[in-house]
Amino acid sequence: MTVCEVVIGLEVHIQLATASKLFCPCPTMFGQPPNTNVCEICLGMPGALPSLNRQAVHYAALVGLAANCTINLYSVFARKNYFYPDLPAGYQISQFDLPVCEHGCLSIRADGIEKNIGITRIHLENDAGKNIHAQDENVSYVDLNRAGTPLVEIVSEPDIRSPAEAVAYLKTLYGIVTYLGVCDGNMEEGSFRCDANVSLRPAGSTRFGIRSEIKNLNSFKNVQRAIEYEIARQQGILDDGDAVTQETRLYDAVKNVTIAMRSKEEAHDYRYFPDPDLLPVTISGEELDAWKNEMPELPHTRLERFKAMTGLPEADIEMLVQHPNMADFFETAAGLSDARKTANYMLGPLLRECHARNLPADPAKWAMRPQALAELVRIVDQGLISAKIANDIFAEIFSTGAMPEAYIKEKNLGQISDSGALGAAVDAAVAAHPAETASYRSGKTKLLSFFVGQVMRATKGKANPALVNELLVRKLGRH
Ligand code: ADP
Ligand code: MG
Ligand code: ZN
Repeated sequence: MTVCEVVIGLEVHIQLATASKLFCPCPTMFGQPPNTNVCEICLGMPGALPSLNRQAVHYAALVGLAANCTINLYSVFARKNYFYPDLPAGYQISQFDLPVCEHGCLSIRADGIEKNIGITRIHLENDAGKNIHAQDENVSYVDLNRAGTPLVEIVSEPDIRSPAEAVAYLKTLYGIVTYLGVCDGNMEEGSFRCDANVSLRPAGSTRFGIRSEIKNLNSFKNVQRAIEYEIARQQGILDDGDAVTQETRLYDAVKNVTIAMRSKEEAHDYRYFPDPDLLPVTISGEELDAWKNEMPELPHTRLERFKAMTGLPEADIEMLVQHPNMADFFETAAGLSDARKTANYMLGPLLRECHARNLPADPAKWAMRPQALAELVRIVDQGLISAKIANDIFAEIFSTGAMPEAYIKEKNLGQISDSGALGAAVDAAVAAHPAETASYRSGKTKLLSFFVGQVMRATKGKANPALVNELLVRKLGRH
């Protein structure tokens, strides 16, 4: 068995969050009735002329700047010829030898190690429509609503060496495009998807092996599993002394296998040539400067700041910066209460509730507002409720969006810190357990926690524990 090194290069397709398509005014909205968001341009009718959506160039340049690329002030659209029913023009409009961004790199962290991954290029292109193969009817349908949606394709250098690095790279990129606001990040709807090129080579070799390309992976988990499967498959072929075929494969997530789809096209198969219907894209120096100035705080910088605010380890709070809405939620709540406690509530009970309710880790989809979480942290701090009650009511507060202070008043859950009221409960607990009282008084002071438990039960957990302790010690000690 040859010991092999894994080589991976990723091509990521990101749907840009522009209101209209790349070369026509049709809306890009997802989930509309089939073939309603179409016009003569995105339907590829003869003679219909494309005109460029400038916002897409702006967005592509922002991605390029965040990925440390050179932004080309002059780039060219090219026709990439191939025919599928979901591409009615018979060619895709993409960029070939002059893309809008080139030569970048991203710093990633996988298995605790930091490393740079080269970005070969970032170019603009239009998305294809969707072929829908209805097995039971034995027909295929075509929905062209997506045809013409602006994409940026981000091509990495073959610098990635493991499935974990591939996922770390994708998460880094995902954070960047969602923070920039150029992509809605909806992976289930295909807004962020990736083709993984995978090859093996004998350890120590400097030549790359033959690769396969796994198309259209649309979750981090599928990327991880598809690459793992592909590595094992290729290793098996090499161990048998055979050669890997260069081909395009599909990942079947249900069976967890990759399946050969077609042999790999080469650039010459596409017969690229500059699109005669579109002018070259130019960006002025002033425009580029303005775009540089609108760069928001990106995830890695925000992570450093949150680390300092909470004193929590990076691995714990990474989750808080993965989505900008999540980071904003944390930041607002932490600003109104205690940063570390806020983080702990978010990473513990809050994510648990999301999980239990099948909600994404995106506050836009929750009823709870950051003000409510901050109030919860504050009223626990002030002793208005115990930490236990806070946990008990969390699910309800989270799902209804109720403000905790009003909620505990309404439900009469406030902590009892009144020694008169607690004194009666303490007296009752002692009176009801004469045997334990006698043992305590003869030296078994460990029984104190038994009595605390009795009072807590009697007050439904609302008693202030410190006060209960104090009152019990006094009461039991007096005889
Ligand atoms: P295309 O897939 O369109 O032919 P490229 O040849 O530019 O485009 O390669 C696409 C991707 O494949 C890039 O991300 C690149 O890093 C990666 N890649 C190229 N060669 C290999 C290889 N031998 N093993 C793994 N990845 C590779
Ligand atoms: Mg490719
Ligand atoms: Zn259109």
